[in-house]
Amino acid sequence: MRKILFLSVLFLTAALSQAQEQTKIDSILSLMTLEEKVGQMTQVTLDVIGEGENRFSSYEPFNLDKKLLTKAVKEYHVGSFLNTANNRALTPQKWYSIISEIQNTVKEESRLNIPVIYGVDEIHGATYTAGATMFPQQIGQAASRNPEMVKRGAEITAYETRASGISWNFSPVLDLGLDPRFSRMWESFGEDPYLASVMGVAMIDGYEGEDNNIGHPEHVASTMKHFLGYHAVTSGKDRTPSYIPQDVLREYHLPPFKAAVDAGSHTIMVNSGIINGVPVHANYDLLTTLLKEELGFEGLVVTDWADIENLHRRDRVAENDKEAIKMAINAGVDMSMVPYEYERFFDNLVELVKEGEVKESRIDDAVRRILKVKLALNLFETPVTHYKDYPKFGSKEFERAAYDMAAESITLLKNEENILPLQKNVKVLVTGPNANSMRTLNGAWTYSWQGEKTPEFSEQYNTVLEAVQNKIGEGNVKYVPGVKYIEEGKYYEEEKAEFDEAIAAASEVDYILLVLGENTYTEKPGDLNDLYLSDLQTELAQKLAATGKPVILILNEGRPRIISKFEKDMQAVVQTYLPGNYGGDALADVIFGDVNPSGKLPYNYPRYPNALIPYIHKHSEEQTKAEGVYNYEADYSPQFSFGDGLSYTTFEYSDLQLDKTSGKEGDKIVVKVNVTNTGKRAGKETVEVYTSDLYASEITPDVKRLRRFEKISLEPGETKTVEFELDSQDLGYFNPNGEFRIEAGEFEFLVKDLKQTYLLTE
Ligand code: BGC
Repeated sequence: MRKILFLSVLFLTAALSQAQEQTKIDSILSLMTLEEKVGQMTQVTLDVIGEGENRFSSYEPFNLDKKLLTKAVKEYHVGSFLNTANNRALTPQKWYSIISEIQNTVKEESRLNIPVIYGVDEIHGATYTAGATMFPQQIGQAASRNPEMVKRGAEITAYETRASGISWNFSPVLDLGLDPRFSRMWESFGEDPYLASVMGVAMIDGYEGEDNNIGHPEHVASTMKHFLGYHAVTSGKDRTPSYIPQDVLREYHLPPFKAAVDAGSHTIMVNSGIINGVPVHANYDLLTTLLKEELGFEGLVVTDWADIENLHRRDRVAENDKEAIKMAINAGVDMSMVPYEYERFFDNLVELVKEGEVKESRIDDAVRRILKVKLALNLFETPVTHYKDYPKFGSKEFERAAYDMAAESITLLKNEENILPLQKNVKVLVTGPNANSMRTLNGAWTYSWQGEKTPEFSEQYNTVLEAVQNKIGEGNVKYVPGVKYIEEGKYYEEEKAEFDEAIAAASEVDYILLVLGENTYTEKPGDLNDLYLSDLQTELAQKLAATGKPVILILNEGRPRIISKFEKDMQAVVQTYLPGNYGGDALADVIFGDVNPSGKLPYNYPRYPNALIPYIHKHSEEQTKAEGVYNYEADYSPQFSFGDGLSYTTFEYSDLQLDKTSGKEGDKIVVKVNVTNTGKRAGKETVEVYTSDLYASEITPDVKRLRRFEKISLEPGETKTVEFELDSQDLGYFNPNGEFRIEAGEFEFLVKDLKQTYLLTE
């Protein structure tokens, strides 16, 4: 990894070796007082530097309170800022003026002139910037099975983030989306650790550049989050306890983080939850022993929102705030995100060091890590990038990339009698609460935390309804909402909206495009008590189906809401996830055949609320044909399975071969398979290799595991041989003590419905 760093205090620019970088950091550190160091470890939001709530909520015009800003910078040496009041999106010009003002205040008011680092959640495009390019949310990106596209999306996001003067992005999410009850499933790359690792690394490469040169003015620092096991909550509710044994932690939750650390990501955010009774923010074993020592992570560890205080106020492992600070910093936290009373965080931490409760060497380590990122970002030379240097912001080229990703993510789950694609000379009824909403296409964290401000910047984009109208002409499209979300209510509150009219309208058309799903939500507000799709939407689907007109169900949802009460009556099912600003256009292209769908489900779609079984599961969870086995009643029957996704053409797999002797040490396993496009249209297919360990002596093996995948394009009649290389590491597992084991024995390699046996010898 090549690093370019900039001598800042002397204002000299030069590429530094690692040793020079250390010297540089040491020299800055040697000039710093304890107070200045603690200030670097403090990250505040503009709401917090003032008094009272939402003091800066009015952004037009947005005026920073100079007095409060000066206090934060001069008296408390605050080293980092994040977000905006009310999480509102701003124009690039506005961003530039805010960040310039902060950096200028640092220049004028601080002794050492160490620039602040500004961080924001730009999670599917530069979500905090008006007019930025919005991609599908991560769950849809995973469905594209196209890491190159994910990387390109992240490059564009980094560019537009820098165009907004921001250099630190709290993305990607590397947690596994294993549980649809969890309100942040859609922020993940789905349930599989290998898929999440590949997509996570692609995204980091896009944000930071493959060489991790984040000093480049078009790159940003990425953040791996939320370390570790954040989505694995027992109750399914956000920020509640998890119980994760060592083997599960290392086998499933750790690999995406390990891959991302190895890929050089500069920063990491801590899981706000509690694992095995211990809040992760106070867990030395996870933050220091595992992350910093074993994985060798040299970057900066930031808390999640106010999570140091939470050790006292919510989780009650600390008797007071000061004790909480001691626990977190000693556990390995380097920067505190939003201590609500940042002055008290500062005073307490300074005192703790003076009292010997936190060693100054720990503070030095934290500040070294922070300075390292600031130097790498070139902030000393260029504390804020200027929007004028980013002419491609919001360009057609970027728009195209976002559209392409939406088109590749859309997943055709059912297509009875090849009802899709539809002809363009038909009449359709477009109905459902998600049919005419930009907000639901984008999901949360879009122009605002819960996504409720999305429409403000969305006039130039097409909802599903508008895209369908553009495609076949307004005269052929009848729109009746049927059900609508109550905008002022909780995200899930709905009411009827011309419900009977929607049913009646079915008689006027050839087909019904029924667009169902969820309103936007994230974190606690998205906690859910019932995974079935709402009663009103279910009723709408059932009544429309009863009209006898063919219904194409279009899902626009962050997690798989259960549809088994009416799925059998739908002639086609199309999953769009949260496809972003161009999702409506991409969907219309899929429905009317201008795009051949190629997305693949990144999770198992459950059929029942009490059957939330991921594709990675154990044999006892499914019916076994073996005689005398007690679980003969077990019922593993997801509505749709991980990897499902139809095309308008057909693919045939043949000639699966394993070459077991190709590796020098005999441990390389080359897998080859032929894939032929047997239909009449060009199409894209993702070829997936799974392995199955037939017996594992120390744990119960998984039924199967994804090991490699590749997306290919095939013309009609064309055959391609796809080749993958695995090695014996891919056949190992973690035992209950968290130790890695590779055992001799029999394995199966599975590609589609082809199977080959592999014998691993000692
Ligand atoms: C979320 C993080 C996010 C942070 C800063 C928290 O509430 O859990 O994912 O990065 O806020 O906005």
